Amino acid sequence: MAGVVIVGNGMAGATVAATLRTKGYEGPIVLIGDEPHVPYQRPPLSKAQLLQDGDPQLVRPEAFWADKDIELVAGVRVEAIDRAAHEVRLADGRALAYEHLVLATGARNRELPGAESALGLRTVEDSRALRARLGAGRRLVVVGGGFIGLEVAAAAHTLGTDVTVVEALDRVMSRVVSPEMSDFFEGLHAEAGVKILTGRRVESIEEGAVTLDGDQRLEADVVVVGVGVVPNVELAAAAGLDVADGIVVDERLLTSDPAISAVGDCAHYPCAITGRSQRLESIQNATDHARAVATRIAGEGEPYAAVPWFWSDQLGRKLQIAGVAADGAESVLRGDPGDGGFSIFRFADGALVAVESVDAMADHLAARKLLSNGASTSVTPQQVADPSVSLKELAAAVA
Ligand code: ADP
Repeated sequence: MAGVVIVGNGMAGATVAATLRTKGYEGPIVLIGDEPHVPYQRPPLSKAQLLQDGDPQLVRPEAFWADKDIELVAGVRVEAIDRAAHEVRLADGRALAYEHLVLATGARNRELPGAESALGLRTVEDSRALRARLGAGRRLVVVGGGFIGLEVAAAAHTLGTDVTVVEALDRVMSRVVSPEMSDFFEGLHAEAGVKILTGRRVESIEEGAVTLDGDQRLEADVVVVGVGVVPNVELAAAAGLDVADGIVVDERLLTSDPAISAVGDCAHYPCAITGRSQRLESIQNATDHARAVATRIAGEGEPYAAVPWFWSDQLGRKLQIAGVAADGAESVLRGDPGDGGFSIFRFADGALVAVESVDAMADHLAARKLLSNGASTSVTPQQVADPSVSLKELAAAVA
């Protein structure tokens, strides 16, 4: 019997497989991925794993997969999907039949000219190679001031490395946080001694240096590139599925072929919370997509409506974001950035659309509740700015 075949053995693919069994699916499950490992967690690779080498943290204990009768095919690429025959063709020559196919192909790092002289960060091998080159007396240039770039910068600094971050736009993490939160993290890094050059673009990388716009050269013993990702859509596109910035799926996470779903970083989906069609790169998105698809295949299932959330660890501070704000959203501060935890609440057209919290878990959890029905009009800027108003109580009132 042809069961469920999952392409991609990262967090999304692994969570589909595991959840299918939790939900009582009894058919065959095959989890195929080109990484030659049992599924492991990527978030620690730019955080704890850089600070302290060790084995990768696994998504499930190694014995789990055999115990649950889930076949792992690791270190093998899927080369093609034959939709008419309901089969995938593997690089090792095998063909596997599917009743339902799940694409969890993820994304790959964007590259810059001369990337062969630099390191990227995606796999456990990347993380180990980078860690081996960090430490006192080394100069690191990080290209890109997004989550990945700043997390690497923070960990490298903690290990004693001399760090310079080059960010093309006029502020760090601009894709995901408010100008006020960018300011806060730029200040945190500067105070620690990490140099951040904003508004400067790296044009090319060579052995031992990067060249910036305007031809300035920055010497470096190690260069890390963290300039965003490109979704892996080629397999889907070659099979004739709709692709845009990602593999296009509907509100049930089904592609234009009803026998094929897509989940995680590679999926371009209509978000019930933001009201936009989008692709997100986060563990929450990977696992919630995966659970939704597995639940549907196992016979239950509802349209997908999870609140997006993200986190980052830098220099001992934890940033958590719930929701997604577009440029121009109004920022309202709760708490004092100079004194422990605080949050920036973002409003658009009078409704709460996102909350960015630093060391303020209670705010973050309340925000996820408040945003659970989409943009929230049940709170006002005045309420969130007032520390005597309980967010927990406001959130509890949301259905
Ligand atoms: P990630 O989440 O992987 O860190 P982001 O897209 O959030 O990815 O961040 C990547 C950052 O890299 C963006 O802020 C972008 O402006 C920056 N960037 C892209 N190209 C260059 C470049 N050539 N030089 C410097 N910064 C760049």
